[in-house]
Amino acid sequence: MFQNKILRNLLIVAVIVGVYFLIQSQNKKEDVATTAKTSPPVRSEETPAESKSATSKPATRPSTYFDLHAPLGVPKDSDPSDDYLMEKPQYVLSYNNARGGANWVAWNLNDSWFGTVERRQGQFITDTSLPEGYQRITHDDYTGSGFDRGHMVRSEERTRTREDNDATFLMTNILPQYHDLNAGPWLSLEEYCEVLARKKNKELYIIAGGIYDKNPDYLNGKGKGRVAIPKSTWKIVVVLERGQGLKDVTKDTRVIAVNMPNAQGKEFKKSGWRKYLTTVDELERLTGYDFLSNVPADIQAVIESKTD
Ligand code: MN
Ligand code: MN
Repeated sequence: MFQNKILRNLLIVAVIVGVYFLIQSQNKKEDVATTAKTSPPVRSEETPAESKSATSKPATRPSTYFDLHAPLGVPKDSDPSDDYLMEKPQYVLSYNNARGGANWVAWNLNDSWFGTVERRQGQFITDTSLPEGYQRITHDDYTGSGFDRGHMVRSEERTRTREDNDATFLMTNILPQYHDLNAGPWLSLEEYCEVLARKKNKELYIIAGGIYDKNPDYLNGKGKGRVAIPKSTWKIVVVLERGQGLKDVTKDTRVIAVNMPNAQGKEFKKSGWRKYLTTVDELERLTGYDFLSNVPADIQAVIESKTD
């Protein structure tokens, strides 16, 4: 009799545990389904689960790195065929195979990404996670071209671990920039973002990329098929307080949008970033992408039309 009671109780516990896990697994499926629905058609093979260098914060791993780096919206345009989406622990991006570079790179920046790891030495890294048949840009594609290998996610912004810093040297994070741009106004905005993240304890959501002519020039005169040269590089910085996210974006949220010509010159190099301020609306018009698409439309309308 007593034994039966124990058995009966055990059975009840087993059923409860069973039901719990059933619900859990249903929830997980729903998460995946939601992700699949909101995410773009082409996806990188590299999922967080497979990535062994997932060393970055946060402590609780997001379901995908798109949630971590582009919570305000994965940029989309009318033609997804030239957007090969890739996610890494350190940033997410859309790769344009014809141009041999990213359409855009998106990343989170706050104080936690900064550490003491030194800048990677040696050559930049070919991104072998690109699928079969995609052109894999190498360090040497840029050699002798007269253009810098311009980081989108800056090396200094990923110094917590060796893996984080190395990831910024993947060629999929690189666009051709004249040195005077890279070491000039572009750098000055990067330095300002570092101040916001480290000294002002801000949470930044950054997107950057290039704007191209219809028939762009290519590095080293290698006709169509290797690396196209952008006529300008742009950046959008959404400035939130540390720990804030999508739900905290209001009509008062600060948004810095710049579009800097890929140019040379002594004066240009020291011109500073504020000279190139524009609006997200203008960048949407020039690139064809909808940025910040997860932000409610009425708020988007306000923050995308104002200049910092
Ligand atoms: Mn740079
Ligand atoms: Mn938008």
